[in-house]
Amino acid sequence: MVDFEKADYIVVGCGFWGSVFAERIATVLDKKVSIIDKRNHIGGNCYSDVDKETNIEFHKYGSHIFHTSSKKVWDYLNKFGKFNTYRHKVITVHKGKHYIMPINLLTINDFYGLNLQPYEAAKFLDKEIEKSGIYEPKNLEEKAISQIGRPLYEAFIKNYTEKQWNCDAKDLPSSIFDRLPVRRNFRTSYFEDDFEGIPVDGWTKLFQNMLDNENISILLNTDFFDIKDKINPNCKIIYTGKIDQLFDYEFGTLDWIGLDFKFERYNVKDYQGTSVMNYSDKIVPQTRTHEFKHLHLERREIFETPKTLVCFEIPKKAQKDDEVFYPVATEKNLKIYEKYREKSSQNKNLILGGRLGLYRYMDMDTTVKDALETFEKLQGAL
Ligand code: UDP
Repeated sequence: MVDFEKADYIVVGCGFWGSVFAERIATVLDKKVSIIDKRNHIGGNCYSDVDKETNIEFHKYGSHIFHTSSKKVWDYLNKFGKFNTYRHKVITVHKGKHYIMPINLLTINDFYGLNLQPYEAAKFLDKEIEKSGIYEPKNLEEKAISQIGRPLYEAFIKNYTEKQWNCDAKDLPSSIFDRLPVRRNFRTSYFEDDFEGIPVDGWTKLFQNMLDNENISILLNTDFFDIKDKINPNCKIIYTGKIDQLFDYEFGTLDWIGLDFKFERYNVKDYQGTSVMNYSDKIVPQTRTHEFKHLHLERREIFETPKTLVCFEIPKKAQKDDEVFYPVATEKNLKIYEKYREKSSQNKNLILGGRLGLYRYMDMDTTVKDALETFEKLQGAL
């Protein structure tokens, strides 16, 4: 049982940022730390479980494929679990036809019905881009068009982006498109980092190993806002929940994207032939469909069974009580966020982290790195 009146460190949220920070407090400082989470499980959005009917391990919040070029982050996580050799590839469906993502020479040739070589593709795309006349892109739409031309943008980016973010692509920052490489060669891997994989024993096991420390206690099904008045004023609170909620929406509500996940079991060995299939047209409600058995090809017996588990991911604008997954980093929202950040900096016992606490679109590796570095920076003052 956690005695909130006596606790010195409370971490709110058991996702990557909170778990790494708690592990550091417990291991490096050798201090007691309590983690609370309103969900009924650890691991935040990385959480995985095994479906009893099919024996397939699934990621409850969509496929979480780890990739990083930070040796420090890779070595740190490998202390808690080994990774398999999975290499991510994404197929996207446009008007019923399959293409490879991110946009590369195969996508370009398939889309235009051409057979260009890399040096020809560069010239071809440059002509397409020239037609658009965009030289100083000011938003996601202009950035994409200035890199791939309008026809590819309209086929593969515009509708996917507007489904994903629930707004016009012109209202989004170009930085979101920077996540996606554009290739004029045949390299088809989604990521190009030094290290990549899925934990061989699943994400949940990796989190269990990270948190398996006698200094760490975990309290699930516990909402911070129900217990916050019991916490003693000298306790350090490491908060990874929504920053606007923390301050009771004082400066306004930030926009977040929520996600619905619809799971289906099918009596076929292989439903879609790959782990993640994107859908680039508006008529299909999901942005992507996940088929989890493809994430663990080393589990050959499970792959061979004539059953599969699939999940459709459908984004939505989050309402106040919805779980949130992505911050919508428009200028308007960033201005609101800055007010919350400024206010939080006045409380020396409050440390903010994670996608929701920092209102930052971070990948798993950036999240781990940020938690490790924040801990190193604050260690002396903790
Ligand atoms: N994107 C797109 N079409 C795709 C895949 C991605 O337009 O088939 C755009 C979209 O705006 C998306 C962004 O690229 O939000 C980043 O994609 P990524 O796969 O990195 O998103 P995440 O996995 O974080 O949801």
